[in-house]
Amino acid sequence: MKWIIKSDLKIGIFPVLEIIAPQLDLHFASRTGGVSPSPFNSLNLGANIGDTDRNVNQNRDILLNTLGISSDNLVKGEQIHSSNIKVVNKGGSYKASDGFITEREGLSLAISTADCYPVILYSPPENTLAAIHVGRKGAAKGIISKTLGIMIDQFLINPEYTISLIGPGICWKCYRVNKRIAAQFDKNVIKKRKDELYLDLPLFIKNELKRGGIKQRNIFSSGVCTSCSPDFCFSYRRDAHRTGRHWTIATIK
Ligand SMILES: [Zn+2]
Repeated sequence: MKWIIKSDLKIGIFPVLEIIAPQLDLHFASRTGGVSPSPFNSLNLGANIGDTDRNVNQNRDILLNTLGISSDNLVKGEQIHSSNIKVVNKGGSYKASDGFITEREGLSLAISTADCYPVILYSPPENTLAAIHVGRKGAAKGIISKTLGIMIDQFLINPEYTISLIGPGICWKCYRVNKRIAAQFDKNVIKKRKDELYLDLPLFIKNELKRGGIKQRNIFSSGVCTSCSPDFCFSYRRDAHRTGRHWTIATIK
């Protein structure tokens, strides 16, 4: 991933897409360039987390205008750390949804995060796109394999040709977990430092993608940790739960 400046916003993009998937538009909005005061400074896109609706709506307008996206074509979900996936054909706010799949051009799928990972799957041959919210709970519930299963069954994609992009999220060094949570995951994604246990969620995500048939060479990771990047990223853990949310927005052009 690389940062670019668009108007006053610092946006993360994957330049490799211009070569391997020019039909896919993908942007990660950093926390900069918005109107919200601390602790939501400044481009907080999350509603109902303590910031005013006025600020959130203004921030959303700033982002959508900058990216040239009409709010009518925006798909967003009430994310509940589930493995609920919806196939969508029109914009709107969808109840209890942590992932979307579409083949509709011009429809923008938004995933809201602040430590959890936004994961994008795109199959160029079938022009099929998925955007999912992958935190510890959704990951453990198999949201990645479930999404790939729907893409294979309903959209006839071949995972061998599917590319995946993993946006900013929390790195293992910032993600200490207790024994009960560690026990829910394979040993290879639990790291030990001194006597503490840590969850390597990005490694878990990569393992799940590969288990689903995605080739290693088609997995692209931003490498940005939200908790390690206070200047550009909100972090639910680092900021003791009082923080904003970013959006990752994926669109088939
Ligand atoms: Zn970190």
